[in-house]
Amino acid sequence: MKIAILTSGGDSAGMNAVVRAVVKVGILKQVYNLTSYLLLLTNFSRGCETWVVREGYEGLVRGNTEALSEQSLDEEPVDLPDNTSPDGTSFNLIHNLRFGDGDLLKDGTGDHPGTRSLKGRYIVRVGFDDVRAWFAEGGTLIGTARSKTFRTPEGRLQAAYNMIKEGLDALVVCGGDGSLTGADVFRAEWPKLVEALQSEGRITAEKAKLHAHLRIVGLVGSIDNDMSMTDLTIGAPTALHRICEAIDNINSTATSHSRAFVLEVMGRHCGWLALLAGVSGGADFIFIPERPPTSESWEDEICECIHRHREVGKRKTIVIVAEGATDRDLNPIKADHVKDVLTERLGLDTRVTTLGHTQRGGRPCAYDRVLPTLQGMEAVETLLEATPTSPSYMIGIQENKITRVPLMEAVAMTRAVSAAIEAKDFEKAMSYRDPEFKESFEGFLKISTLDQEKVPETQRMRVALMHMGAPAGGMNAATRAAVRYCIRHGHTPIAVHNGFRGLLDDEVHGLSWLGVDSWTARGGSELGTNRTLPSVDLGAVAAKFQEHQFHALLMIGGFETFNSLLIMEEGRRHYPAFHIPMVHLPATISNNVPMTEWSLGSDTSLNALVDACDAIKQSASASRNRVFVVETQGGKCGYLATVGALATGASLVYTPEQGMDLDTLRRDVRFLKTRYKLDAKGRSEGRLVIKNEVASQVYTTDVMQKMLKEEGGTLFDARSASLGHTLQGGVPSPMDRARAVRLSLKCMAFLEREHVKLLQQPVKARHATPDSAAIITIQSSSLKWVPVQEMVAHADMQNRRGKNPWWANIKELAELLAGRPQLIGIHSKDLAQYE
Ligand code: ATP
Repeated sequence: MKIAILTSGGDSAGMNAVVRAVVKVGILKQVYNLTSYLLLLTNFSRGCETWVVREGYEGLVRGNTEALSEQSLDEEPVDLPDNTSPDGTSFNLIHNLRFGDGDLLKDGTGDHPGTRSLKGRYIVRVGFDDVRAWFAEGGTLIGTARSKTFRTPEGRLQAAYNMIKEGLDALVVCGGDGSLTGADVFRAEWPKLVEALQSEGRITAEKAKLHAHLRIVGLVGSIDNDMSMTDLTIGAPTALHRICEAIDNINSTATSHSRAFVLEVMGRHCGWLALLAGVSGGADFIFIPERPPTSESWEDEICECIHRHREVGKRKTIVIVAEGATDRDLNPIKADHVKDVLTERLGLDTRVTTLGHTQRGGRPCAYDRVLPTLQGMEAVETLLEATPTSPSYMIGIQENKITRVPLMEAVAMTRAVSAAIEAKDFEKAMSYRDPEFKESFEGFLKISTLDQEKVPETQRMRVALMHMGAPAGGMNAATRAAVRYCIRHGHTPIAVHNGFRGLLDDEVHGLSWLGVDSWTARGGSELGTNRTLPSVDLGAVAAKFQEHQFHALLMIGGFETFNSLLIMEEGRRHYPAFHIPMVHLPATISNNVPMTEWSLGSDTSLNALVDACDAIKQSASASRNRVFVVETQGGKCGYLATVGALATGASLVYTPEQGMDLDTLRRDVRFLKTRYKLDAKGRSEGRLVIKNEVASQVYTTDVMQKMLKEEGGTLFDARSASLGHTLQGGVPSPMDRARAVRLSLKCMAFLEREHVKLLQQPVKARHATPDSAAIITIQSSSLKWVPVQEMVAHADMQNRRGKNPWWANIKELAELLAGRPQLIGIHSKDLAQYE
């Protein structure tokens, strides 16, 4: 199959990662079953051929007016002779390695006159190495444009002609709802376009038959996260990073001067960025298109809210306004107007910051590297499976599951949101967004305003809040949300400092609404944390529960927390004080809590790893031929190393689960040697090898580095870097903060429900069921409560990790994207010419 990919509409971070994945996976033509995370390397005998279309649909319409051979070239493209090896394998990848335009596309020197140029060539064949290291770049290297011509039938006819001329039969489109609609229109019209081209004599009957059907798949690239039927669009997480960085910076100056800041963020029809920035940035008030203020006068509403915050002692005010925010009569609400209201009515020193295009730019965050890579792979698979009658699909994501949804259904639902807003049916607009959106909005109200929703006095609880294990990004945000939920509902939040050790030492204090205000963006653990288990003195722990009259317990932490919960649940047989609802909210950079696919902190650490590796890779690349062995934390759990390898484009990864042996190392050295031999002369790059700190007791990072240095000879040099505690990250990522709020509020609601159930039992004989000691988990596409006893069967207690992690096959996937399996298989006679 000959696949072309284009990016269209507004650019977004992560688009390059999509292009990279589609090109690489297309060439390798592998089938990756994301549903079961099972890697099936089916048929390498013939990979797909891959093209990029420059400048979106406009490039498709313009096509190639100048042939490559007519240009003045300073370097011949690497297009090797057709001499297939006996099994067909090695030839295929070597042949598809480079077509020579990767650097021009990457450096944006495509139309440079006088040298090798892309001038007059919009549909460009690319090879495996042409897209190397693209995903650390922001925007889209193949360019995007809005094409008026493609909107016309004549334009689409020309686009169809150009595709057939280049022999293309499949198209991947990455863009917003307009771009995806364009893709669907194109596909629906395709048979007629082919017929017209044949009747006009522009293509032969044979070509018409060969190109009777067009395969199309859509990926959503949009910083607004405005597409229905997917939780996230490519580029939205990075934009959220940019906004939160700005809020964090503004927060300090706002506090210093006791100022108010009104931030305008992008989002014409979708308030996702404003909402999530509000949740993760700890804003006081937000304006979003889907849910305008409900009262007659929004000016009164915001003033009342901010006034109350100031009255309890808040020194700063952050208001976030989405670009498309309106009041309930659809009159636009603009940042300047909000500023005037706050200045005139409340006398606040108020400033406006419009973030504008800074939100689009910059290096993609970890999520915008992993998600587009997985979605790009799914896109290729979708194309391979497409039939003339199957609908065009859009690739989405639900929680942690890559999905395929009918493209036009998603576009129609997205448009229905705008229509509902225009019709002032805001309930309907909210209902068309994914459930998480609505939950996040309700969550924002719960934790940001001083409104009260007190439960009956008899149902009020004293809730103990505790951190355990190593600090992880999001722990403090989760605690802040829990404290504010408690206060809103009339419960008493109680901080237990320094875990069970602190409890035994009576380090127990009340927490206030204002006291936790700035915790959202703080890394580390505000409560203090350690690894002491309650078994240190279970009886004394129970006595402290009784003494402080805890009615419920929320513990935030990693594997130790699960273990502690288990110990206390089992302790219920002897200690009545443990007959209270108890929950564990997983938070650990190792992501080693069984059954949950994400823990708080796991995104922050991934971003810390990506940041460090980008810098290391730069240094490794500068010296052209350096392999860096990067050591990660993670205990005996390979999450950080494996998903980190996918997010950084590492060539090899070593995990404790898979271990290391001499045979593998020998093959890996062979792979690296082959890889460096195949690099274009003078264009070798630095490469990363990611190794978990305990992947092997014998082949340590030091041994690995020395071995690679020795074996690399003149081909490559080797260095090492141990990232250690830097991976705990400084400031928690916005995804971790938002997830922390959402999960923490769910934990609090769980504790409330279970407490009410207990209250129905006689006081002296209250007996909590095993279900009331549970862990909140993210599993595939949903959130699930798992009773601690049930989790035991899924835990590898000795190695302190889950038994079937979702990333088990990501190691192969990361190495596959580096071409390891194929390069190892290359016959030495094929390599001879590169020696
Ligand atoms: P963003 O959300 O960033 O605006 P978008 O994909 O919605 O992205 P649009 O400008 O709506 O951006 O569409 C991008 C391109 O897709 C258009 O310039 C046009 O070439 C093509 N396109 C959009 N709608 C159609 C359509 N109905 N028929 C044909 N082509 C279309």
